[in-house]
Amino acid sequence: MDAVDVAIVGGGAVGAACARAAAARGLQVAVFEPGPDPAAASPASAGLLAAQIEPTDDALLALSVRARDLYEPLAPALAETTGIDIGFWRAGIASFAFDDAAVDRLKEGAGRQRQAGLRCDWLEGDEVWERWPGAAPDCRGALFAPEDGAVDPQALTRACLADARRLGAALRVEQVATIETVNGRASGVVTRAGKTPAAHVVLAAGVWAPQIAGLPRPLPVEPVRGQMAATAWPAGTPAAVFYHDRGYVLSRGGDALLGSTMEHAGFECRVTNEGLAQIFRGAVRLLPALLNQAVQRMWAGLRPVTPDGRPIVGPDPDVERLWYAAGHGRSGILLAALTGEIIADLVTKGETDVDISALRVDRLKPQAMNSHKP
Ligand SMILES: Cc1cc2nc3c(=O)[nH]c(=O)nc-3n(C[C@H](O)[C@H](O)[C@H](O)COP(=O)(O)OP(=O)(O)OC[C@H]3O[C@@H](n4cnc5c(N)ncnc54)[C@H](O)[C@@H]3O)c2cc1C
Repeated sequence: MDAVDVAIVGGGAVGAACARAAAARGLQVAVFEPGPDPAAASPASAGLLAAQIEPTDDALLALSVRARDLYEPLAPALAETTGIDIGFWRAGIASFAFDDAAVDRLKEGAGRQRQAGLRCDWLEGDEVWERWPGAAPDCRGALFAPEDGAVDPQALTRACLADARRLGAALRVEQVATIETVNGRASGVVTRAGKTPAAHVVLAAGVWAPQIAGLPRPLPVEPVRGQMAATAWPAGTPAAVFYHDRGYVLSRGGDALLGSTMEHAGFECRVTNEGLAQIFRGAVRLLPALLNQAVQRMWAGLRPVTPDGRPIVGPDPDVERLWYAAGHGRSGILLAALTGEIIADLVTKGETDVDISALRVDRLKPQAMNSHKP
């Protein structure tokens, strides 16, 4: 096989974004993607850009906000070069409080975010009902992050892959069995069709990343199942994204997407009555008008989750030119575009202006890895 500059293992949202960013820097890229696997995370995702909403890990907040803001220029750029609309929507996410503890936590969170220079509001209950009539009638208020939003994850992946190909990247419909290294340096990938020599290898294989042979260390990435369902969005309610600690609902193209569960069920990717019950209970509490809507479809996917919930992005400390773009957990769509930029900068310049010290692979010690095996 012809040698490439960069072999990317996995063509989900993260691999696709890495491919696009690397190809945009003039590198010869090959993306290896046999599927997508029916259990893959990206096609199943809700696509929330919930940088200021998801439980805040201070190490991730600045990174997440920067990642979210990248979609503002990326969405029109991809529309222009590929004709694909990635559904970028930025009218804010409201996180509702239903008890005193949540009021305290969210108010404090909103204050902390404002101190950090971010736009973030606390809405009292009557402000919530005025803005979104019919929403969460028993809520006690909401944190509102006006710059958060959503993208359509399937369109995002498709658009990044299409743009990467336009820029010269090859899409290889093959499963990588082994990452090869020679003298402490990544040298290529092996599939059933043979070896493709590569100057750099990027591992972006979602929950399957740890299974690839030739890795210099065990990767503590585990599948956490998320179930979702779709109904029609109730007429008369303005398009919105509502969130609370037991679920969320977002409008996309006339549908209401209801999510999601966090289940340790190994690689079993299926929809269950229990999961659906949890999703529907959570969503109906946020928007009771959903009760009368017909269920249209339901699905599940496996999030690649690390023990501390942060992704693994950056170099392997022992094997040169092996780069990780893995373990993005609940936020892989939010972080995909930024991950692509980081990896492309590392590959071309050996450095990135993003602080990725909290994302290093060797922060995860072997004991922690073993204790989290399924
Ligand atoms: C229900 C649900 C809701 C979610 N909601 C959100 C959200 O609102 N916002 C957000 O930011 N994130 C969300 N996420 C998380 C997000 O979807 C993931 O973090 C992200 O999609 C991970 O992308 P990935 O490319 O790493 O993995 P994947 O999308 O799983 O892609 C990995 C790819 O690697 C391929 N592959 C596997 N093995 C090999 C191999 N040996 N060789 C080559 N290719 C291989 C697979 O076929 C697959 O296509 C959600 C996830 C789920 C499941």
